[in-house]
Amino acid sequence: MTKKKQRRKVCTHCGRELPIKEFYVTKRGHTASWCKECQRENKRAWYNRTRKVPDGIRMDPETGLCWSKKGAAKRIYWTRRMLDDLKQLFPTTKNEEMAGILGVSVRTAIRKARELGLWKSPEWQHAINMSHVRMAHLEGMRLGWPSQFKKGEHFCPENEYKRGHQLSPEEREKQKKGMHEWYLRHPFAARDRAKKLMKPVRCVDTGETYQSIVEAARHIGIRPSYLGYKIKNGKTVNGLTYSFINNQ
Ligand SMILES: [Zn+2]
Repeated sequence: MTKKKQRRKVCTHCGRELPIKEFYVTKRGHTASWCKECQRENKRAWYNRTRKVPDGIRMDPETGLCWSKKGAAKRIYWTRRMLDDLKQLFPTTKNEEMAGILGVSVRTAIRKARELGLWKSPEWQHAINMSHVRMAHLEGMRLGWPSQFKKGEHFCPENEYKRGHQLSPEEREKQKKGMHEWYLRHPFAARDRAKKLMKPVRCVDTGETYQSIVEAARHIGIRPSYLGYKIKNGKTVNGLTYSFINNQ
């Protein structure tokens, strides 16, 4: 009985009791705890997981996408059909949805769209914004208007505006804080206000003028905030210098 027991062993992975020859011997001379079959299977899976794909151009048979691989960098090739789809979808489709249809990552799709100078349609964007407003309204209704003033409630009754009243530094501080919190609750208010204050932009080199930084950025094909950064720091965009017209 003891002899038989010595010559057989239970694999800790698959739980089968197997003859001792079905187990590898480790470097230290012990019998492995997993049977040969389990070890082989595990190793095969590990190789598949960590397999090094050689550099080159290949096609994914599932999606039909062509992509090249060089080291850690992987880039897809855009076919004419994909570009047409992108042009058609981008203005009126959510980015996640669009990327799903095209079979590429959201970041890749957006980057390509920017490169092609595509923009979301203003009407569509407005509709999305309105749907968000409606959703926020419903959510507020569900929660019983947690952030809204009830009748007779005031933000800070003690320093409310009265004719001829001068605010003390503390009151001013409190008012500032209140305004800040209001802007946090109304994220688009600051943007809308900024829109009213937009400054015209001119390209110093070509003399072309734009109504606003947004218009100029769209014309160039970069983000407005990026153009703002360039102007502020006196840097060039595609070799051209831009400036606000008021500044000169
Ligand atoms: Zn096993």
